[in-house]
Amino acid sequence: MEKVDIQSMTLPKLEDFCKQKGLPKFRAGQIFQWLHQKQVKSFDEMTNLPAELRKNLSENCQISDIKIRRKLVSQMDGTIKYLYEFADGQTVESVLMQYQHGYSLCISTQVGCRMGCRFCASTLLGLERSLTPAEMLDEIYMAGKDSGQKISSVVLMGIGEPLDNFDHVMDFLDILSSPQGLNLSLRHVSLSTCGLVDGIYRLMEKKLQLTLSISLHAPNDEIRSRTMPVNNKYPMDELLSACREYFRQTGRRISFEYALIEGVNDTPSCAQQLCRKLEGMGAHVNLIPVNPVKERGYQRSSRERVRQFQKILEQNHVNATVRRELGSDINAACGQLRRDDKGGKSC
Ligand code: SAH
Repeated sequence: MEKVDIQSMTLPKLEDFCKQKGLPKFRAGQIFQWLHQKQVKSFDEMTNLPAELRKNLSENCQISDIKIRRKLVSQMDGTIKYLYEFADGQTVESVLMQYQHGYSLCISTQVGCRMGCRFCASTLLGLERSLTPAEMLDEIYMAGKDSGQKISSVVLMGIGEPLDNFDHVMDFLDILSSPQGLNLSLRHVSLSTCGLVDGIYRLMEKKLQLTLSISLHAPNDEIRSRTMPVNNKYPMDELLSACREYFRQTGRRISFEYALIEGVNDTPSCAQQLCRKLEGMGAHVNLIPVNPVKERGYQRSSRERVRQFQKILEQNHVNATVRRELGSDINAACGQLRRDDKGGKSC
């Protein structure tokens, strides 16, 4: 019989589980704290539980397992890129970055991705499976343990599409922000999506404090459909009206990611079209010179082009920043380390 994935349970789910087993409610709180505050990896370490209960839990439940398969440290800025391996041998990446306000960890939400964005390395091998809440938490727990640093913010911008793993991501966020767990406020969490509109509406209902980031990367349907297949299912106007509704309902400003690709989406006319599309949304645009991925053949826009694009946005009162590049000496384009490890060609 398959063992119960106890580390993926939110506190209310764990309380139900304990109730079904005839255990008092406080046991759930104790187990939850062992798993998510002390982050132990065996039931034997849960010393305030009766021996009989520990034995019973080890027979019926499992605690998820994560290993560091590779670790790259940037000589330029100390950014650390982890290639993690789970119990079934599947691998994902996380990146630990230092900012002025503390350490931020970029985590993966799926093994691979099925969204097919043309400029992205993570989707080249397709989707293997989604991560469990426990596995996403382990990316954070392991990075904290290995680096000895307190992780003060988390971004869901690694491999995978978080809204394509909706229920697990919601439980993950619940556990992450629980006062009996890491107690990380969702104000310090960003979730990035390529634009799954139904997922955006579902997320809106949850009224979470997190920052929603939309990977827009184009100013019109023609360019967006060419570079992001998801646009064929959810065209830009549908996506942007979902964003407007999200802003209205939650009061949270949306951040838009825009990777500048030479000759594809970086002209002054693209910048002007983008301003018109984002009018009145209080939007923030994050400009990213695209990370070239060999198989994709895209080049990054020149610095001058990036600056010109930013200037047009600002002249039109659209707030825009250029993302600071970190770890550029350690192959930081998302999904490349995993793919190289699986035998793909390195860039
Ligand atoms: N699936 C989610 C989150 C993972 S991708 C999403 O699409 O938002 C994280 C971010 O990296 C997205 O904005 C994505 O579009 C961007 N990205 C992917 N490949 C890139 C590349 N080669 N250069 C720059 N940004 C890239």
